[in-house]
Amino acid sequence: MAAPEVTHLPNLPNDVEGLRQSIRDAVVRVVGEDPRQATERDWMEALAFAIRERMVERRLLTRRQFADEDVKRVYYLSMEYLIGRMLEANLRNMGILEPARQAMADLGVNLDTILDLEDDAALGNGGLGRLAACILESLATQGYPGYGYGIRYEFGMFRQEFEPYHQVEHPDNWLRYGNPWEFPRSDRKYPIHFYGHVVEHHHPRGETRYTWENGEEVLAMAYDYPTAGYGRRNVNNLRLWAAKATRDFDLRYFNEGDYIRAVADKAESETISMVLYPNDATAIGKELRLKQEYFFVSASLQDILDRHLALGYNLDALPDKVAIQLNDTHPAIAVAELMRLLVDCHELSWDRAWDLARRTFAYTNHTLMPEALETWPVELMERVLPRHMGIIYQINHDFLEQVRHRYPGDNDRLARLSIIDEQNGRRVRMAHLAVVGSHRVNGVAALHTQLLQETLFEDFYNLWPERFVNVTNGVTPRLWMIQANPALTELLGQRIGNDWQYDLDRLRALEPYAHDADLQKAFLDVKRANKVRLANLVRERTGVELNPDVMFDVQIKRIHEYKRQLLKLLHVVDLYRRIRAGEDVAPRVVLFGGKAAPGYARAKGIIQVINEVADIVNHDPAVGDRLKCVFFPNYEVSSASIIIPAADVSEQISTAGFEASGTGNMKLALNGALTIGTLDGANIEIRDAVGEESIFIFGMTADEVVEHRRNGPNPEAILAQQPNLAAAVEMIESGFFTCDDPGTHGDLGRYLRHEDPFFVIADYAAYTEACERADTLYADRTAWAEAAILNVARMGYFSIDRTVRDYANQIWDIIPEPVAPSRTNGAA
Ligand SMILES: *Cc1c(COP(=O)(O)O)cnc(C)c1O
Repeated sequence: MAAPEVTHLPNLPNDVEGLRQSIRDAVVRVVGEDPRQATERDWMEALAFAIRERMVERRLLTRRQFADEDVKRVYYLSMEYLIGRMLEANLRNMGILEPARQAMADLGVNLDTILDLEDDAALGNGGLGRLAACILESLATQGYPGYGYGIRYEFGMFRQEFEPYHQVEHPDNWLRYGNPWEFPRSDRKYPIHFYGHVVEHHHPRGETRYTWENGEEVLAMAYDYPTAGYGRRNVNNLRLWAAKATRDFDLRYFNEGDYIRAVADKAESETISMVLYPNDATAIGKELRLKQEYFFVSASLQDILDRHLALGYNLDALPDKVAIQLNDTHPAIAVAELMRLLVDCHELSWDRAWDLARRTFAYTNHTLMPEALETWPVELMERVLPRHMGIIYQINHDFLEQVRHRYPGDNDRLARLSIIDEQNGRRVRMAHLAVVGSHRVNGVAALHTQLLQETLFEDFYNLWPERFVNVTNGVTPRLWMIQANPALTELLGQRIGNDWQYDLDRLRALEPYAHDADLQKAFLDVKRANKVRLANLVRERTGVELNPDVMFDVQIKRIHEYKRQLLKLLHVVDLYRRIRAGEDVAPRVVLFGGKAAPGYARAKGIIQVINEVADIVNHDPAVGDRLKCVFFPNYEVSSASIIIPAADVSEQISTAGFEASGTGNMKLALNGALTIGTLDGANIEIRDAVGEESIFIFGMTADEVVEHRRNGPNPEAILAQQPNLAAAVEMIESGFFTCDDPGTHGDLGRYLRHEDPFFVIADYAAYTEACERADTLYADRTAWAEAAILNVARMGYFSIDRTVRDYANQIWDIIPEPVAPSRTNGAA
């Protein structure tokens, strides 16, 4: 038993004086610089260290309390965390933003300048990774014992540049200055095994055991990122794994005398965590990707079991003390890995292990699109993870026995349900493994969950209807309102107080004031100020000058055919042609933002044509302020926080049935943008919440899209009926906007006329009609302000806190454990 002073946790002061002391000390002791000579980056680093000292105190306090109270924990397994900048978020959630601002000012440093130096932590592609980051923040804010696991990619999402029209990708070396937020845990390393072969051992009592032998080993080393809750003392943890070569690795080759080869191979084995695959909503059948997935899953599960046993629980208590959420199928190999750990390493019987695994896992599906569904060739899985292939066969065998019993003689159903797809050269269907190995499967919006039950997982739904639940996505108001939109936050505070910061439903208190002229004026003033802020950034990044009194119409999201940036572009070209023809059209600024996967040629072509159209439109003196078109480069979380509060109109125009939920739609509506959208994903729930008067719905429904496809779409026939649309397509294919490569726009014309796989042409008339409804309302400033205020007031449901409570109650069975402020830590 250590003496009390040894076990007592420090408790650093959070006032201006205490912070100033810590920051000044850190410049010397951590950064190693003379305060007289410290640069802004030195001060940033010193500030970050002062915050992290305070975070880790609360982290340890939180951990002690969770251990004392025997809590059940949830572990969120995700390949992606799209976090963004951490400095301001950590200051705010730790409750020391204002004291730190003052302390820095006392030291002669402007906090805002410092905040702008930080690179985004972009360890994700888009919505899926951003959801993971929002969920971790909310778990901490609500006091849930919840931990994230993922990969510490050396290089995150690429940085996008245009040269001058097409996208060029540059590596995102986000760790080049080191990272003050991470705690490297060299004591937390786990061996991760690849390749080799399986040996069967027959025991006298008839049971068979397996060992996985030879092959290669790499170590997974933990890097911890404390995650602070807002308005609470809870600090949770995100643990990211980095690959390190084993010492065995060193010895093997060094002893052979080939020093250079040994070092090179060591570096090679560490490539596993080198780079994030920049593909959104497409599966990558690359061996390195499978290794990344298994690498972080195996390390996380070893760590979870270690903690479970170290806390004194036995393995039978696993589902009572542990919930594991699989964010999409990227970590679905966890089902087989947990079986391997329980059966091969902990020597549980197969049936006991299976019962525990299934009650521990739950799986979130993020897409219905076939190209996004992960399947691995059996041959590859057998080579890289031979033991897991055997385990999957066993799981599948037991599962199909159950199906046979339930549906005797139904071989088609067996083939449809099987974890192994026998049609396409034998592949492992990871989604099937995830459904079979989980006690809950959720979609991320009501329509998406319904479509899962009716299409992709229809057979599974018939088998186990109780397994399927919906958990509609949400967004954190801390980042997407308080941080991104300080002006609106201030206005809300004046009108309805700050309770909404903890319970977003309280925004409803704004409803009675929606027609109040003073509030409307203040609301429009805030919006205009945010537009000026964005216009300044756009000028800096692109040189284009925007008029803040014109409607800002934004479509910001990954570039994907189904998201239909081409629909918006056709509208831009249509307006441009009509302006040139002397027609009077409502003025607008159209702002696009988003990255294309580097191998997705069609998406890259869309970026190029948008940039080319923008260049012509923005430089045409006949157009002036009536139309501007901007492609904002390198759209990421930090730029989203500037664009979103400035948007008047939010474009959510995916082909119905394709966008699982969307969360950009929620961020924009929360900030007072009115949505032009299809009945897709969470747009439907947004419409139900805000009411028809605050949203412009258009286009085919998901059912109508299916019907339309069945009837054999005929874009040429539609074009023949719509002269404006036909003229826009002709203008593009004629090469009018061609700046770079003359071939590309002709190809785009053919694509629209003859393929149009996402029905841009079929939905065009309805789309422009919706845009005109928005123009008419926008022209009536009072009516617009009222609709926008009501929109904000009714968005409470889309708080990530509601999402997390839904997971906690329907899936994880965990309860909040707020860290008590009065709890002095000496007693622990
Ligand atoms: C929210 C967000 C997304 C997701 O946007 P959707 O419109 O839902 O596709 C993508 N990227 C970033 C940087 C985001 O902040």
